[in-house]
Amino acid sequence: MQIAHSKVATIDYTLTDEAGEVLDSSEDQGPLSYLHGAGNIIVGLEAALEGKAAGDRLSVKVAPDQAYGERDAGLVQTIPRSKFPDEAIEVGMRFRADGQGGSRILTVVEVTDDDVTVDANHPLAGQTLSFDVTVVGVREATADELSHGHVHDGDDHDHDHHH
Ligand code: ZN
Repeated sequence: MQIAHSKVATIDYTLTDEAGEVLDSSEDQGPLSYLHGAGNIIVGLEAALEGKAAGDRLSVKVAPDQAYGERDAGLVQTIPRSKFPDEAIEVGMRFRADGQGGSRILTVVEVTDDDVTVDANHPLAGQTLSFDVTVVGVREATADELSHGHVHDGDDHDHDHHH
C-alpha cells in the first residue's frame, strides 16, 4: 500500500537542523503515526512521503516556507516585567499564551529590571530542516480517525473527543 490521502502512515525519522544537530528522533519516542493529508505533519515532509510504501527510505530537506515559516520580527515584543508572575524570569524560559488563533509559545529572549522581551516565533521558524525517514507501515484510516483528523492508535490517546 502506498501513502496517499486518508491513509495512516507510520514512520521512523531523525530531524536535524542546518548545523547537523539532531533536534528530534523517533529513536526516543518510537515511530510516528500520522493521518496523511490532514496537516498532522509539516507540509514539506507530507508532500515528500506521498506515494511511498513500507520499507522506503528518504532524505528530505524542507525549506522554512514548507516547515515552520520564516521568522517574523513583528512577533518579538517587549512587555513590562509587572505583567509576569512574581518569580525569576530567565532568558530561554517558555510561556504558553492563549489568544485568538490558538496558543503560542513565547520564548524569553531578554530580561531587564523593567521589561521582558519575548519571541512568539516557532522555535524552528526560519530553519531548513532535514529529515531522514524510513516508512514502517501504511494502512487505511478508520472512520473515526478520518472524522477526527488524526490517528487513534498508540497509548497516548488521551485527548478530548469531539464527537
Ligand atoms: Zn480522536
